[in-house]
Amino acid sequence: MRKVLSGNEAIARGAYEAGVKVVSSYPGTPSSEITDFVKRYDDIYCEWAVNEKVALEVAIGASLAGRRSMTCMKHVGLNVAADPLMTLSYTGVNGGLVILVADDPNMFSSQNEQDSRNYARFAKVPLLEPSDSNEAKEFVKKAFEISEKFCTPVIVRSVTRLSHSMSAVDLGERVETASKGLENNIPKWVMVPANGRVRHVFVEERLKELQAFNSKSDLVAEEINSNEIGIITSGIPYQYVKEALPEASVLKLGMVWPLPLDKIVEFSKKVKKLYVVEELDPIIETELLAQGVKLKKLKRPLTGELSVDAVKKLFGLKVNRCKAAVKELPNRPPNMCPGCSHRGMFYAISKLKLFAAGDIGCYTLGLLPPLSAINSTVCMGASISMAHGIDRASGGEYAKKSVAVIGDSTFFHTGINGLLNSVYNKGCSTVIILDNRITGMTGHQPNPGTGITIKGEESPRINFELLCRAFGIKNVVTVDPFDVDECIRVLKEETSKDELSVIITNRPCIFADRTVITNPYFIDEDKCTGCTACTRLGCPAIAWDKKKKIAMIDESLCTGCGLCPKVCRFDAISQRGAK
Ligand code: SF4
Ligand code: SF4
Repeated sequence: MRKVLSGNEAIARGAYEAGVKVVSSYPGTPSSEITDFVKRYDDIYCEWAVNEKVALEVAIGASLAGRRSMTCMKHVGLNVAADPLMTLSYTGVNGGLVILVADDPNMFSSQNEQDSRNYARFAKVPLLEPSDSNEAKEFVKKAFEISEKFCTPVIVRSVTRLSHSMSAVDLGERVETASKGLENNIPKWVMVPANGRVRHVFVEERLKELQAFNSKSDLVAEEINSNEIGIITSGIPYQYVKEALPEASVLKLGMVWPLPLDKIVEFSKKVKKLYVVEELDPIIETELLAQGVKLKKLKRPLTGELSVDAVKKLFGLKVNRCKAAVKELPNRPPNMCPGCSHRGMFYAISKLKLFAAGDIGCYTLGLLPPLSAINSTVCMGASISMAHGIDRASGGEYAKKSVAVIGDSTFFHTGINGLLNSVYNKGCSTVIILDNRITGMTGHQPNPGTGITIKGEESPRINFELLCRAFGIKNVVTVDPFDVDECIRVLKEETSKDELSVIITNRPCIFADRTVITNPYFIDEDKCTGCTACTRLGCPAIAWDKKKKIAMIDESLCTGCGLCPKVCRFDAISQRGAK
């Protein structure tokens, strides 16, 4: 049967058909939907782990127990999982193990646009790169075969353009794989130096075998057309090359690490000019040049996505400009949703002009005007450790003018370690945990603070207040983020202390709990003075009437959160009807 599937849905299907037994992941765009699709298959145990390192370690445990396992993450997630990955390369696997990594060229929703192919080279493990949904499914299955054949974890790399685009997929049946049993092999699985030295030799030998295998495998496909131009490419760039240069001969790589060198040399002899078309880092190009393959270098940017037009331009070809240009569309800056529970706290932080070390998640959106409440965002969990650094660097002085802001899921991810560090090292910063009981930005996945698992089953809900007190923190306050005056009062009080404080907010995301949505508010034109206090909240439901010079509320967007009436000093904002 054929079905049109997104790349992410196809990857999940591939895991199902490959007989995968365990999937443990941490959500991150553009990879999040893969595990959300996997949860529909009852034959697979799946879970949201607290971070990518833990997710990979769960997958390693499942592999050690003899079962096929997979973990899915975005590119920055692989940084978190890099520690176990590097040693997993040495231990190898028992049941097949696949690491699905989705890169984000052009940074549609990421803090950087790193190229995960570097990790395959670094960890000396194979990396497969599909170019459409059907290949995504097939390559996942192939990756499990390679994993077990060569005793190695295998990385399958997707990119946003593949994960979120759709194409036809041939559906197959699930192949149940028998458990290989728990592997009790100390020289292989206990990486003390004596064993590690032996395994490193194995890793180097494995790489050579994989390279030879790649040259002969059906993962590399030669498409001979004109002998004028030959292009080596892979993944999504293959699609651009086919459309931009239909006359060119193409060597399409399915496994981009280790490279099929013999096959590439063979191909290079069939064309007059040889090029590499790849996105982000020049990984294939650099390696081939180092190996003495005669290539013509393209003046390709090292940033952003390629496209059919971009490939045409690289080869000096005419680009057909589309008449329906999109330049007339107004910019739509990212913003928190109407009724977002983070807004009140950000308003208070902004009012007090505090320096906020932010984190990754919806709260990053507090960066933009009119709130302008976030001053730094580096990576998951960095806010608390950075606030501690700010505090220590200034001998406590800056701690009174700054806060760390982190969400619930990000706190469990790696923020918890930062907080432990601050406690242990006698920090005196103020940490705000914006608990909206869901992993918001990646698509509302549950986490240990939600009280349900990925399958919707009830699970223990971690209580932040008790947890912080268990760490030994004396100053732990829970506030209603919609009570702006209270937020300001608590912020003033806690930042003035010479001790570590944690402030926890207690309103759910409107998508986590729809029951919080109530009757909308409206603005009484006769009472509104046009002071703009409510517009400074940045709620998308609040607009400005240019002619009348007063604020207005779009009642179809207003969730009735009750925040804006709290900042209006003229009593101009009221709620329609009772709840
Ligand atoms: S009550 Fe005010 S702040 Fe809350 S959603 Fe409605 S318009 Fe926005
Ligand atoms: S805060 Fe009140 S008075 Fe000021 S613009 Fe908004 S509705 Fe009008």
